[in-house]
Amino acid sequence: MDAIQQQFVEQARTLGIELSERQLEQFEMYYKLLVEWNEKMNLTGITERSAVYEKHFYDSLTIAGVVKFAELNSLADIGSGAGFPSVPIAIAFPHMRITIVDALAKRIKFLNEVTSELGLSTVVSLHGRAEEVARMKEHRDQYDLVTARAVARLAVLNEFCLPFVRTGGMFIAMKGTDLSAELDEAKFSFTKLGAKLVEVKKLTLPTEGADRHLVICIKQQATPNEYPRKAGIPLKTPLV
Ligand code: SAM
Repeated sequence: MDAIQQQFVEQARTLGIELSERQLEQFEMYYKLLVEWNEKMNLTGITERSAVYEKHFYDSLTIAGVVKFAELNSLADIGSGAGFPSVPIAIAFPHMRITIVDALAKRIKFLNEVTSELGLSTVVSLHGRAEEVARMKEHRDQYDLVTARAVARLAVLNEFCLPFVRTGGMFIAMKGTDLSAELDEAKFSFTKLGAKLVEVKKLTLPTEGADRHLVICIKQQATPNEYPRKAGIPLKTPLV
């Protein structure tokens, strides 16, 4: 184990995660595939190894600081891009059944390669818009936990993501620094979509020092039939 991996193991431990040798190997394979494929397609602006481990891998795992994965079975990650936060979660919590949804086919192709190379057999990657996939019976009102990182502002994300959550389940939006305007704007969509904002947890990346926020919501009622609206509408005319 080298210094970067040692640091990552310690950071994961602060989240209650004990990584095995096999899991560290999977993270390293993921890193290599990410950098290799990033030369052919735009997956991430962050390629330096220590930065990928902290800003992508550790950051994705911070969700474990606010939910008990041992009590959850299913996760949908909306707009996963190169696989964040879902692939690190799949590596760290192999019992989770994970559905990834992304609108870009080339990113799904990359994710299929990653899940196959890493042997992540509980992950399914779907090419499609959240607004359309959320209308499919097998994905609507189904998931224990839904995540989205760096996809859209909260009022838009609520309409993309809450339809996937089962009643009583959770939606966690992973956000960067300044949130107050977004939170205010999202109040109407929480009410409209039958969800309640429970907590906004502020975190700091351990080495880099940048602030992050986890916006934690509980779905209290099934999503009304009219939501999500047609693909493109939530972004163009957010529920505000
Ligand atoms: N979550 C990743 C991360 O944190 O690195 C990716 C973020 S990337 C900026 C946003 C991703 O959301 C893109 O891969 C894009 O294709 C996807 N996306 C945007 N709108 C979407 C929608 N309506 N349905 C599904 N995916 C969407």
